Amino acid sequence: MRRWNGWGDETVVYPLPDSATPFLQQLVGQATAPPRVVIGNVVSSVPESRLPAHPLVNADPLERVYHARGQSLPDWIALRSGRIPAFPDGVAYPASNEQVRELIRYATRVGAHLIPFGGGTSVVGHINALPGPAPVLTVDLSRLNGLLHLDEVSELATFGAGVMGPDLEAHLRAKGFTLGHFPQSFELSTLGGWVVTRSNGQQSLGYGRIEAMFAGGRLESPAGTVILPPFPASAAGPDLREAVLGSEGRFGVVTEVTLRIRKLPEHEEFRAVFFPGFEQGKEAVREMMQARLPMSMLRMSTALETETTLALAGHERVIRMLKQWLRLRGVGEQRCLLILGITGRKDAVQSARDDALAVTSKYGGVHVGRGFGNEWRKGRFRTPYLRNTLWEMGYALDTLETATQWSNIPRIIEAIEQALRNGLVDIGERVLAFSHLSHTYPWGSNVYTTYLYRIPAQGDPDETLRRWQVLKGAATQAIVSAGGTITHQHGIGTDHLPYLAAEKGALGIAALRDLCLRFDPQGIMNPGKLVS
Ligand SMILES: Cc1cc2nc3c(=O)[nH]c(=O)nc-3n(C[C@H](O)[C@H](O)[C@H](O)COP(=O)(O)OP(=O)(O)OC[C@H]3O[C@@H](n4cnc5c(N)ncnc54)[C@H](O)[C@@H]3O)c2cc1C
Repeated sequence: MRRWNGWGDETVVYPLPDSATPFLQQLVGQATAPPRVVIGNVVSSVPESRLPAHPLVNADPLERVYHARGQSLPDWIALRSGRIPAFPDGVAYPASNEQVRELIRYATRVGAHLIPFGGGTSVVGHINALPGPAPVLTVDLSRLNGLLHLDEVSELATFGAGVMGPDLEAHLRAKGFTLGHFPQSFELSTLGGWVVTRSNGQQSLGYGRIEAMFAGGRLESPAGTVILPPFPASAAGPDLREAVLGSEGRFGVVTEVTLRIRKLPEHEEFRAVFFPGFEQGKEAVREMMQARLPMSMLRMSTALETETTLALAGHERVIRMLKQWLRLRGVGEQRCLLILGITGRKDAVQSARDDALAVTSKYGGVHVGRGFGNEWRKGRFRTPYLRNTLWEMGYALDTLETATQWSNIPRIIEAIEQALRNGLVDIGERVLAFSHLSHTYPWGSNVYTTYLYRIPAQGDPDETLRRWQVLKGAATQAIVSAGGTITHQHGIGTDHLPYLAAEKGALGIAALRDLCLRFDPQGIMNPGKLVS
């Protein structure tokens, strides 16, 4: 059963090793567990539905609680305190294109807002019902989850847009194929959600972003149906797939997606290298990217992220020995961890590995083999469970991300981390903030920052939220001022909406609003997200 107020399956817990508590206490301070709220109390606070009855619409309060919020930190604060300002008035699970069209007609007729719901893993407020006079209908796409067509000759597969990561991969693997899209939310997020948020998988370096995989599909909008044929390429004017990518449910419901797939790789391996400092590691990664080495992943952590990873890993004796061994090889306290993924034909993997390790050793990197890399792979979808554990200890954890050109990377990391570290100084609170580069390009990289702060005594949700607002605001402002995109992969939703104009300009925003109106003349589709 899925957790109603946290990440993942209720039966999966991720306990921290003994070494983690003193580490966090030293860097952030001693925390106290916030009070727990039981779901029964939240369910009993759900107001009467404002939607007229319809055979496809379920107004059960429990359903409405499960679809009320996503996975952003403000969502967690609302869910964990039981103070949820608005619920959807009903939830529908369409099983066909015709049922989706019927739900759009119904929402238009009764003046309801319609929120498409994939896996509900949004971290920027995409799927939240917003308070207001119009009733809200959430359309959960989980029943549109089949493999509809597989063209093995052309390496194209068409799925229902509500298919979740593991089911999609299982369908493809059974036929010897893979998509290769592995966001950290893979276990719970859906294909349609990936497309309309421009999602990015952990191995995007080898497999590409979802944009590169999205060959075509079907959009049911209030103004009609849009079919996007899966041409290999086309010069027929602006590409309408670009309008669907990143549309965040504003233009309609994506019901089918045709994907560019590929044969399962012959071989894959993940290796770890420690550098004496971040600058050396970053330069090695840049050189590998600009030499176009065929890697599938490069994940380069700052010194503090590396230290935190080692502290949370447990295995204290082994880590102590590793640190001693690294010191003897010139890698000291500022050590920074790089995980490299290499995927493909066996001989190509071997040659890419040799080339990559030649570059890393040029920058003083010490290769420690496959053990660390394998551990990373094993835990790649498990780490989000840590958020549950940390919250229950009294720590709130959030992440934010951007991308910028290589020449700007050191400045932007410094600006973001500084903004976070200083954010709560006036109330005497410390913030742990650290970053990594995990989606790299020849021209630049994303920067992914994790930060952690104390939940105030007695778990006061207003103060927990205020701290988040201060930190998120300061970090986002730092990103904009330092010349980064406001989001490389999480999208806009409500949380980034105030900053979009800084990136798109007034005319760009007006054009986006016009597009919304073209597909959705009455403004029923997920209003208040992406653009106001
Ligand atoms: C722990 C964790 C790790 C994450 N890791 C990553 C990561 O590595 N990479 C990354 O890119 N993101 C990541 N995310 C963010 C999130 O998983 C992605 O944005 C994901 O693409 C959302 O997919 P979803 O199916 O959950 O969509 P939802 O959260 O349900 O919806 C997101 C938006 O898409 C719309 N939508 C969903 N399905 C459809 C559809 N069929 N038609 C029209 N609109 C639709 C919704 O209305 C909403 O606006 C992570 C989130 C969490 C909580």
